[in-house]
Formats: sequence, C-alpha cells, structure tokens
Amino acid sequence: MSEQTNAFEMAQQQFDHVAKLLNLDPQVAEILRWPLREYHFRIPVRMDNGTIRVFEGFRVQHNDARGPSKGGIRFHPSETIDTVRALATWMTWKCAVVDIPLGGGKGGVIIDPATLSNGEKERLVRGYIQQIWKNIGPRQDVPAPDVGTTPQMMGWMMDEYSKLSGQYTPGVITGKPVGGGGSLGRTEATGFGVTYNVREALKRLKLDGSQARAAVQGFGNVAQYAAIGFTEIIGGKVVCVSYWDRTDQKAYTVSKEDGIDPHYLIRITDQYGSIDKAAAIAEGYQIEDAGAWISKDVDVLIPAALEGQINADTVQHISHSVKIVAEGANGPTTPEADEILRGRGIFVIPDFLCNSGGVTVSYFESVQNDMNFYWTREEVLERLDKRMTDAFAAVYEMAQNEDVSMRDAAYMVAISRVTKAMELRGWI
Ligand code: GLU
Repeated sequence: MSEQTNAFEMAQQQFDHVAKLLNLDPQVAEILRWPLREYHFRIPVRMDNGTIRVFEGFRVQHNDARGPSKGGIRFHPSETIDTVRALATWMTWKCAVVDIPLGGGKGGVIIDPATLSNGEKERLVRGYIQQIWKNIGPRQDVPAPDVGTTPQMMGWMMDEYSKLSGQYTPGVITGKPVGGGGSLGRTEATGFGVTYNVREALKRLKLDGSQARAAVQGFGNVAQYAAIGFTEIIGGKVVCVSYWDRTDQKAYTVSKEDGIDPHYLIRITDQYGSIDKAAAIAEGYQIEDAGAWISKDVDVLIPAALEGQINADTVQHISHSVKIVAEGANGPTTPEADEILRGRGIFVIPDFLCNSGGVTVSYFESVQNDMNFYWTREEVLERLDKRMTDAFAAVYEMAQNEDVSMRDAAYMVAISRVTKAMELRGWI
C-alpha cells in the first residue's frame, strides 16, 4: 500500500470513526478494535527435493459473539499479521451486515503458492491444519478460500481435520469442491454478490444497466464472476480487467472498448490468474499498463484485487464519468481516497457489504453440511440474491436516515448487531 497506513490501522481508523458517530461506549470499542484471539505458528513442510522448508502461518479470530468465527485463508508472499488482523475484523462486519449468524476470522500463510508443486501445496495445507485444528471447528471457527487458496485445498484441509478428529467433519471448512461437501454456486457467489449490489445501486441512482459500462481490476475468482455478472445479469459492458503477469512479474490491463468476453478471457487464464497475452491480442484485445483500468470512462469501477489500490495517488485518475465504485476486494480504498470519492459524490458500495456473497454461500454450505442435504444451484443463487438485496436495502436506508456514506452506514448496521449479541451474551 502506498500510503503511510497499513491495512489493520485502516480497519481501526474506519471503526473509530463510526464508533464516534454511534457514541459507542469506549469499553465496548476496546473489545471491538482488536481481535479476541491470534495464533501464529510455523509449518515445516517436506519439499519435493527432500529438504524441509518452514512456513509462517496465522489464524486470527476477531469476534465470535454472533457465532463461530468465519473467514478465508490467504496464501500470499506479503502476508503479515496486520493484514490478517484487518481481514479478520472486516469479516466480523461482513457477517453482521449480511445478517448471518457468524463472527469474523481470517488466516494466512506467507507464501506464493505458484512456487509450489501440487504435492508441496497439499503437505502445506495439511501442515496448516495440524497446527491449528484444536482451535477451529464447526462450532469454533470455520475457514474458507481467499486469495491464493482453492477449493481443492479446502478439500485437503477438511480431510486432514476429519482424520485428526476421528470424525467426518465437512462443516469445518467451506468453499470445498462440489462433490466433496461443497455447495453449488459457491464459486460464483462473491462475484455474483458484487453484481447484485451493483444492480441495486444502479436502480437507486436511476441508471440503466443495459447502458452501463464497467472497468474491473483483477481477474481472480471475484473479478471473473463480477465480470460475468455485469455482462449477463446486469446486461452492461465490461471494458477491461487487469491481472498480474507471472512471466513478466508485472500487472497489465486487458481492454476492449466494445466489451470483453469474460468467458474467453477465463479460457486463456491459468490457475494463478495470468492471462495469455498473445491469445488476447489475437482476439482484438489491447494490453495496457497496470494502472489503465482506473482511468477508463465508465460508470462503474470494480476493484477486485488487493487492498489499498484506490489511494491518494491513483484516485486522481478516476474519470468524471464514474458514478459507482463497487468494492469486490477487501479494503481496496484507503481512508484518504475514500474522502475524495465522497467529495466527488461517487456512490461507494463498501467492501464488506459488496463482497459478502462469498461468505453468505459459505454459510449456506455449512447449513447444507449440517443437514447432509444439498440445494440446487438455482436455490442457492436465489437465496443469495435475496440476502444481498436485503442487506443493501438496510444499509441504504441507514445511509439515507443518518445522512452518512454507505461505508459508515454499513459499519453502523454491523457494529450495532455485534454489540447487541455481546450484550445478550452478557459480555458487556
Ligand atoms: N474469503 C472470502 C471473504 O473475504 C470468503 C470467506 C468465507 O467464505 O468464509 O469474504
């Protein structure tokens, strides 16, 4: 991140701001500003060449007043305890704003998974579970995928936990592969959740979706399905996506003014999100600089990559045509840039509302695991749409009534629900 602030400081800053607006009791704020529990461990892994490498792993449980902690595990070379803390905190607000009975947690390992073989990955994820299995579980803390982790890895984690605990326990992890305890619709859930939020925002702003144009940053799971959703559910055009090119070790924007075909781009993208440039050019796509996505003349910007991408520097490049920023990523906008967007009257759909579709279907997955009865994809997506639409409406109403931004309103809804649960449990 280019600004002085790190992700956790940013999460605390956002919280402090709304705690003040809400006149929150400082003792309550003291509980919510920090995670309740943090685990930091080392994971020795036998590599294919016979040597042992030791990886650093984290699991942070921010708050579990409303139910078991919930949140993904990220494999990223620049993971730190502070990014995991920030992401765990945002998970608490995310589950609360969409009103699912779960708390917030997050995990991470400092590693670029693309540098590991399949066997090494499997040994690493099993090692992760061996270190933490006593502190997670369907009634304690339920991990899931995030940046750098996949459904297959979730399948291995579930298997390792089941072996260690001596019981088949599909509900310990969500985002598992379909057929291995996973839910239909989970893969597309986060991106489609972003889409439903954008659809609702367009409606409120009285904009016609079929005429709308969007620029997407990123081309991982969230970005891919946000691009599909924007073209197929909303009926608009996505003019670009961006990605990290492994070979060149730099990011690019891949654009087509009359609209990209997300399915084609997915076909030429490898498992780590690198797009085959030659194949893109052959189909008439333009390859531009990493930063090109943000200055496109579009109605909607969808940052769906990592934290801190819309910051004091990059915010200046946002076109006057932009009316909505839909935060597919966690923490993509720094507080300074957020102020500028607000000043410009841009409608920001805050991350923990906008990207809550993933955890919502994770919740549906664990419900199906508990029942041992599985829903159709249509049932899952219909329930997801309703949850997203209701959550958006509740936050929008709060924003209107209190005359605050959508981010502050989302915090108000979430903090009130978590505080209420703590009160009912006698914590405060
Ligand atoms: N990692 C996703 C997120 O940030 C999903 C979490 C989950 O499904 O538990 O929301």
